[in-house]
Amino acid sequence: RPLHEWVLGEASGRGTRPALVDVSSGRTVTYAELAALVRGLAAGLAAEGIGKGDVVALHSPNTVLFPVVLYAVTAAGGTVTTLSPLATPAEIAKQLIDAEARLMVSVSPLVETARTAVELVRRQTGRDMEILVCDKADGYRSVLGLLNDGVVPAFSTDPAVDVAVLPYSSGTTGVPKGVMLTHRNLCTNLEQLNGLHRVDENDRVIAILPFFHIFGLTALVNNALRRGATVYVHARFDLDAFLTSLERDRITHAYVAPPVMLALAKHPAVGKLDLSHLRRVICAAAPLDAGVQAAVADRLGVEVGQAYGMTELSPASHIHADGNQDEPVACVGHLLPSTQARLVDPDTGQDAAEGEPGEVWIRGPQVMKGYFGRPEDTDATVDADGWLHTGDIGRVDEDGNWFIVDRVKELIKYKGYQVAPAELEAILVQHPGIADAAVIGVDDEEGNEIPKAFVVPMTGVPISAAEVMAHVEGQVAPYKRIRRVEFIEAVPKAASGKILRRRLREREPAGS
Ligand code: ATP
Ligand code: MG
Repeated sequence: RPLHEWVLGEASGRGTRPALVDVSSGRTVTYAELAALVRGLAAGLAAEGIGKGDVVALHSPNTVLFPVVLYAVTAAGGTVTTLSPLATPAEIAKQLIDAEARLMVSVSPLVETARTAVELVRRQTGRDMEILVCDKADGYRSVLGLLNDGVVPAFSTDPAVDVAVLPYSSGTTGVPKGVMLTHRNLCTNLEQLNGLHRVDENDRVIAILPFFHIFGLTALVNNALRRGATVYVHARFDLDAFLTSLERDRITHAYVAPPVMLALAKHPAVGKLDLSHLRRVICAAAPLDAGVQAAVADRLGVEVGQAYGMTELSPASHIHADGNQDEPVACVGHLLPSTQARLVDPDTGQDAAEGEPGEVWIRGPQVMKGYFGRPEDTDATVDADGWLHTGDIGRVDEDGNWFIVDRVKELIKYKGYQVAPAELEAILVQHPGIADAAVIGVDDEEGNEIPKAFVVPMTGVPISAAEVMAHVEGQVAPYKRIRRVEFIEAVPKAASGKILRRRLREREPAGS
């Protein structure tokens, strides 16, 4: 079945149960309303000429109408490409051109940015594109005006081939790539997740991660709605609003990225909240420090676990199994059902020795169809046997607990040794005088790659470079020592919480 049917199949029967709540206005969309809105907008889009294979760009922060547009487009036969609400007009134009988008759906606060982007597309390609808005904006048609009670003309579908969503990878290691996720990719991943991680109609899920990124899209939109939970929608991440909502909305499930975990571990207000409804916190998207994870579990008194995945995996291959108390801290959980994994020595292509780390290779029905318009990149990532080479170094213990060490590309090669920045960052943030940190490899005077730390001091707590180096030195093998320190105001991060190491590299003087 296609995505919208898979997710909303039981929606009409759920009647007045709330599907989505906008936390700032209190506006609620019930399951019956959601199903009706999707039906009406799908008919409206079809009447506008959107049909099989057409790409619609969705440019919006988290709103209660986001899922409506998403499922209406797929119900009309189209594909949604999701755009970051923080993207610049040039970035948006690039994606609109790359994805061959036909129509853009935005929101009034972003519509000027959208208009500039569409103007850039017109100048570069000669193609014009209409912008619709989800709310109201002068001079633009609203998607709500398209609602009609017609039917979508029949079209042929093959859920294993047709692309439902075309999200872009985060662009942490290179240019963001359009990832073709079929209906089957996305739907099977929901069922695989359900094997280890249950959400049901009694659950209330907080939505602070962006819907446009695959983690938020699967966990907060597709999975939560498929299970009949209520999604508490936050348009943007605000720590105070997040904490207030956790308590007031009696949230049961929170899906977060490492920066939020850091805040939960360190923020004084956390200990004062009544979080008796909270059952589970799941963190993914970037390496999480064990100390931070343990501190959050301890302060919240709830199950805290991780998931692992990537846009190319729709997105999950691993998740913390519900109720697993024996799981070691900092592991990313167990392999999902109907998923295979290997650990491979990236230099030799041979399986790593038992217990040893290697590059994680994944095979399963959630592996993407490919990168849109990039057959060489697809071939370099998914091999002829269907194994997706993740580019991440991992290991697994004898109980099937998986760990992600770092990315292959991020490893610092110090005199032939491999140093994982994530390990050093985890140690750095444990220091009470350090609010946040990032590590990259830089060249020293002799041209050796050495670990350099960028450190954000806690406000008002002075800490010296010598102190930073000494803190790490006592905890790691000598070759992993931090050999250079720079203090910065904030670590540059992507919306998904990942450290943007290339921004830090750009700060380095050329040739250093
Ligand atoms: P690009 O591929 O464009 O360079 P990206 O890989 O950052 O960007 P995403 O698909 O958003 O884009 O992120 C997937 C990556 O996130 C994984 O390859 C992995 O490095 C990282 N990741 C996800 N979950 C975890 C986790 N639990 N622990 C450590 N790293 C994680
Ligand atoms: Mg990637």
